Amino acid sequence: MGNDGDHGDIDNNVTPWNMSISSGHILLRDPRHNKGLAFTERERDAHYLHGLLPPTISTQELQEKKFMHILRQYEVPLQRYIAMIDLQERNERLFYKLLVDHVEELLPIVYTPTVGEACQKFGSIFRRPQGLYISLKDKGQVLEVLRNWPEKNIQVIVVTDGERILGLGDLGCQGMGIPVGKLSLYSALGGVPPAACLPITIDVGTNNEKLLNDEFYIGMKQNRARGEEYDALLEEFMSAVKRNYGEKILIQFEDFANHNAFSLLNRYRTTHLVFNDDIQGTASVVLGGLLSALKVLGGTLSDHTFLFLGAGEAGTGIAELIALQISKTTGASVEDSRKKIWLVDSKGLVVSSRKESLQHFKLPWAHEHEPISTLLDAVKEIKPSVLIGTSGVGRQFTQEVVEAMSSINEKPLVMALSNPTSQAECTAEEAYTWSQGHAIFASGSPFAPVTYADKIFVPGQANNAYIFPGFGLGLIMCGATRVHDDLLLAASEGLASQVTEDDFAKGLIYPPFSCIRKISAHIAATVADKAYELGLASLLPKPADLVKFAESCMYSPVYPNYR
Ligand code: NAD
Repeated sequence: MGNDGDHGDIDNNVTPWNMSISSGHILLRDPRHNKGLAFTERERDAHYLHGLLPPTISTQELQEKKFMHILRQYEVPLQRYIAMIDLQERNERLFYKLLVDHVEELLPIVYTPTVGEACQKFGSIFRRPQGLYISLKDKGQVLEVLRNWPEKNIQVIVVTDGERILGLGDLGCQGMGIPVGKLSLYSALGGVPPAACLPITIDVGTNNEKLLNDEFYIGMKQNRARGEEYDALLEEFMSAVKRNYGEKILIQFEDFANHNAFSLLNRYRTTHLVFNDDIQGTASVVLGGLLSALKVLGGTLSDHTFLFLGAGEAGTGIAELIALQISKTTGASVEDSRKKIWLVDSKGLVVSSRKESLQHFKLPWAHEHEPISTLLDAVKEIKPSVLIGTSGVGRQFTQEVVEAMSSINEKPLVMALSNPTSQAECTAEEAYTWSQGHAIFASGSPFAPVTYADKIFVPGQANNAYIFPGFGLGLIMCGATRVHDDLLLAASEGLASQVTEDDFAKGLIYPPFSCIRKISAHIAATVADKAYELGLASLLPKPADLVKFAESCMYSPVYPNYR
């Protein structure tokens, strides 16, 4: 033992040695295997659990009932979020069982809108680290960092750099709540096993002054790296992921700012299995709604004219997929198909005379037309049958705008997609009232049913969670190696096929969320089928019944019996 100065050093230099035998106390602390009070007498005998649990033996159903009862006592959504995350870290199967069985109630807790608040307060509610952090400090060692993750058979990664978290802007490293939340939906709604999911946040700094000045901020306290430094870290990350997990690893980009989102997708779509939910997932879910709405509206997609308010990631992504579908079904070129689609941004209608100053992703939509500065004038001039709001700015579908849509169309289709609810372009009630019950309405945020003229209208929600879990499952189960746009079209068709006559009668163009596991299995099957057709699937031979195969691949949160 040395002098006082190095005494502490010597005593503290211990190796963090551990042995992982899943029994006794360790089993109770292992969230993947823990069943809490639901361990049976036999399991308690076999796994040295006697005395470590109170004598009562519960069922998973009773645990579920008890937890929901506790959860509903919390009035603040963030408290419910924290309780759910705690449960996930304590008893993973119970967490997923709750999510599967109470999806409509719990989705807004583990995902939008509550996850947004959780990200904002991540520093203070941070308990155990979830997910993997890769920062500029790891440059040159990203592969080693990936290898620190305990699970080896990863099938899907959701990655963010935290620059544009939901509508909340730059939350830097605190964006981790998003990949964690999205992946819990992959497991609950799409049945991808939790052990195969890896949430990652890439920390390249933040430009959020509040976080930079917050002593509790968990990320790198520097301004965002841009240009070469950023690209080099992303390149190292993408190469390391492929090296570590192989060709079939699905990488979902999430909540990157516009400028990086488009370029990352374009750069890696030919070399990796990549998917951007904000662009492609949104496009696919909205197209799914449009395809099902056609059964009410009549005609084909090419018979309609589309007007968007907002020409960002969501708007241009949706517009492009609609054009692609029109092109596929009519044989017209994509360029010609785009002419049925018009976009309005903050400076008015996107037209050719604005080409000099337009961002590159808006250029395909700069059609020949006189400039128009307001949405109302654009509606009157373009005469759309479908109006889609993706501006992020609320209250833009005014009474005049909805009335103009109704005067042009017998049944105008109005999609107010901006989130959160306060930013929706109009409410469900406004859409039904101003159109005198003629509008078909769907939104990004949920709205309660509306009674108008003695009829109950149920607004549909164009929730991305309809698509990405089933889409991802479809890619994984057939061993797809690339995402082709036709797979997104297949996902939209798979979703539209799940809407029933009963749903249409209520005014819905999306199926009820309570059937999401079944919907996901169908989407997975249509996506995999298309992947086989395009030669993108590596799992051979092709299973005879893809829906059954999808269902058989899905993770079940029901407790297994331990020998
Ligand atoms: P974004 O920032 O990429 O795009 C916003 C676009 O709106 C930009 O083109 C901007 O110029 C334009 N804009 C801003 N103010 C405007 C105004 N006053 N009038 C007209 N245009 C205006 O954002 P994004 O990712 O495209 O998302 C936009 C909105 O769509 C968000 O509110 C988001 O929550 C919502 N969204 C919904 C879904 C869904 O319902 N499934 C999916 C994705 C995004």
